[in-house]
Amino acid sequence: MTVRTRFAPSPTGYLHIGGARTALFNYLFARHHGGQYLLRIEDTDRARSTPEAVRQILESLDWLGLNPDEEPVMQTSREARHAEVARQLLAEGKAYQAYDTAEELVAMRERAQAEGRPPRYDGSWRDRDPSEAPAGVKPVIRIKAPREGETVVNDLVQGEVRVQNSELDDMIILRSDGTPTYLHAVVVDDHDMAITHVIRGDDHLTNTFRQIMVYDAMGWERPAFAHIPLIHGADGAKLSKRHGAVGALEFRDQGFLPEAVCNYLLRLGWGHGDEEFVPRDRAIELFDLKDVGRAASRMDYAKLSHLNGQYIRAAAPDALLPPVLARLGEVSGEQRARVAALIPDLQPRARTLAEMADGARFALAERPLKYEPKAAEALDHPDVRARLARLSAALSGMDWTRAGLDAALRAFAEAEGVKLGQVAQPLRAALTASLQSPPIDAVLAALGKDESLARIGDAAEGVSLVGG
Ligand code: GLU
Repeated sequence: MTVRTRFAPSPTGYLHIGGARTALFNYLFARHHGGQYLLRIEDTDRARSTPEAVRQILESLDWLGLNPDEEPVMQTSREARHAEVARQLLAEGKAYQAYDTAEELVAMRERAQAEGRPPRYDGSWRDRDPSEAPAGVKPVIRIKAPREGETVVNDLVQGEVRVQNSELDDMIILRSDGTPTYLHAVVVDDHDMAITHVIRGDDHLTNTFRQIMVYDAMGWERPAFAHIPLIHGADGAKLSKRHGAVGALEFRDQGFLPEAVCNYLLRLGWGHGDEEFVPRDRAIELFDLKDVGRAASRMDYAKLSHLNGQYIRAAAPDALLPPVLARLGEVSGEQRARVAALIPDLQPRARTLAEMADGARFALAERPLKYEPKAAEALDHPDVRARLARLSAALSGMDWTRAGLDAALRAFAEAEGVKLGQVAQPLRAALTASLQSPPIDAVLAALGKDESLARIGDAAEGVSLVGG
């Protein structure tokens, strides 16, 4: 048997981080077993589905590296097939047409409530002859729920779950306008797509028992089910905007790497010993559903940032350049080269791409620089500026290599009889307009000789310290 999984989002909004984790688990499970991972866009709720949401879901999955192995299936494109299966069940006597009017259904619900019963359909048309059908009412098709016994699911995450069949009612599978209900469509699609494992959020667990009615009535083999716990916020409430970012693309916009987000989501609710850093290949090697916990997990943004920092440090500088540049807007060839030179020195401290971009921004600034107040203060002493002028003279004849610059700065400080920091801090202010930057020799090397000497010259002359 080839394992086939699917991720089946409803395009009624952006892809939530919990949905991203469901997609990831489906992907990893399929890959681990050498199978296929598919995508089905469940757009049957036409009033709430939007093309923009579809676009965002596809973009999110692409960003996360979770593109499906086959063309995505749009659920609405299969409505004729959903109806066909409903009619087959009708023809086989496993479903029936029900002609209840809206008022009758309301009355039925009220009766049930008054008697303290759950509001289930009472099966009034189950055994009635269609010749009794009232004129002018278009029927729905309802499936005949089993009335005796129980339905047992051996969920791969939740374990054995049982429901008494008396608790199931004859659910509608085809509406009177000929459109399928969602619970019916999902089963027909999963069967036709040859899905072997349905891995989804545990908010769908109760649906499973209703969906099984369709599998059993059609004589189709049931897939294995795995219902994974939802993601909560730190306070234990369902994760929502007030906890922080929730949309997959929000994490991208905040400067997280997709590899780090996937690693974090994987570790949220799945574990292999205390291995925290689990890149994609290792995740494929290790992932199995038996290691997924049953309890809801809690989103910890600080932990994600920490892990993201690890991924930034582990990344090849070349791989980080495009996303960092993308955050900096349009740059010239020279500016691009400056940023490229800085990347390795920005990696050790940054937790996000946004922090890396912020750390590189000084390299793009146009002279005269606008100093941050603390930098302006550091430069606002005649002797400091005079020292910068002497430094500029000392550096002007140099070959501009990082090692050479480092040695030159040390020699200069010694000659001046001051500590290296007393040279480096004003120099940093002069070059970056702030007091925080990558190592000063890296800054000099990235800016290049002409730009560095020009910035030092500006500071030595007090440009932009004085009004104007
Ligand atoms: N379309 C459902 C949702 O977005 C998922 C259904 C399923 O995975 O079976 O919640």
